[in-house]
Amino acid sequence: MTMTSVLRDALRALAGRAATTAFPQGGAAPDPAPARRSRGLAAFAADGCVACAACARVCPAGAIAVRDDARALRRRLVLDRGRCVSCGTCERACITGRGIALSRDFDAARTGPDQPGATSAVEKPLASCRDCGAAFAPAAHLAWIAGRAGAPAGAAVCPACRRSAATPK
Ligand code: SF4
Ligand code: SF4
Repeated sequence: MTMTSVLRDALRALAGRAATTAFPQGGAAPDPAPARRSRGLAAFAADGCVACAACARVCPAGAIAVRDDARALRRRLVLDRGRCVSCGTCERACITGRGIALSRDFDAARTGPDQPGATSAVEKPLASCRDCGAAFAPAAHLAWIAGRAGAPAGAAVCPACRRSAATPK
């Protein structure tokens, strides 16, 4: 490398466009092409989710927590985006096909769980058993199953009560 070529490269760099982008904002507009091919962090879509928790069971990073509150009859799924590795397993396993998806958010840098965007959550009511009153499954999941089976969505009976009713006395 000669001094002339170094000077030529330096002048070219000074006169040309910036090769990098200031993060997280400012600088040259990012090229959208890599983003189209890239995987962002997963996020729930409340409308398409029935709270079945299949995504939590398959997540290899253990990023999705399932919290059932039997007293309040609520199930809450919380996705810790700091743990998400954007593998897309949850999206592929989602039983409705539209409850969770990889987003266009690529920024996993957060200083704590309370920061905006650090988590993605969805909350749904739990159904209680017609016979024993125990909370046992999300109402939206039961309605989804009934819809798939072509059955009317009636009062639900928990597996334990169904077994007990089916057992000869
Ligand atoms: S994309 Fe992968 S790591 Fe992220 S929540 Fe879904 S299954 Fe877990
Ligand atoms: S419906 Fe999809 S996103 Fe919702 S809990 Fe089930 S698998 Fe997860």
